[in-house]
Amino acid sequence: MNNKLHIGVLALQGAVQPHKAHIEAAGAGFCAVKTLSDFKKIDAFILPGGESTTMLKLIDRFDLWDILAEQFKKKPVWGICAGAILMAKEVLNPTQKSFGLLPVTIERNAYGRQLESHIATIKGYDVSFIRAPIITNTNNVSIVAEHKGNPVWVEQGQYMATTFHPELTFNTPSPMHQHFINKVKNFKIS
Ligand code: GLN
Repeated sequence: MNNKLHIGVLALQGAVQPHKAHIEAAGAGFCAVKTLSDFKKIDAFILPGGESTTMLKLIDRFDLWDILAEQFKKKPVWGICAGAILMAKEVLNPTQKSFGLLPVTIERNAYGRQLESHIATIKGYDVSFIRAPIITNTNNVSIVAEHKGNPVWVEQGQYMATTFHPELTFNTPSPMHQHFINKVKNFKIS
């Protein structure tokens, strides 16, 4: 099977390994990636959930900013929670650097203390919101799902973001992984 798709999960920090079962259940290959030679082997990126400030520090420390920006132009990218923050055009609370792949504003840790972490059902699938951000401003992006009145799953072109974690639910593949892998397939064909 040499036309099998390979999905790379950026492995600097955060929830990397839980994606493996979902990606494999959707028929693609999982790779944990952190160097240019790893990036060259994959068809698409997942930027996992974790802590966006820590990820930014590590991207700087390993001098990966320009390399990643170049890769993201050529491949589909799905950012989850902290990964969605890295993809946004504008980040608030506080402002921080981001790749600007999706024309959205995103506010970090925006659900407040009581709802810091909670489970919700999105498109019939249980997902985890963990110190999740809120997308406050969308411009020309398609809103795939909303939760409590805010967009929580958006996409535009080859890019997609979810403010929640589907990979921590063990019913594989999640509809979000399936959707992303279909997107990667279509991107390869077009
Ligand atoms: N609160 C984290 C941040 O601001 C994101 C949390 C997550 O990825 N689950 O980066």
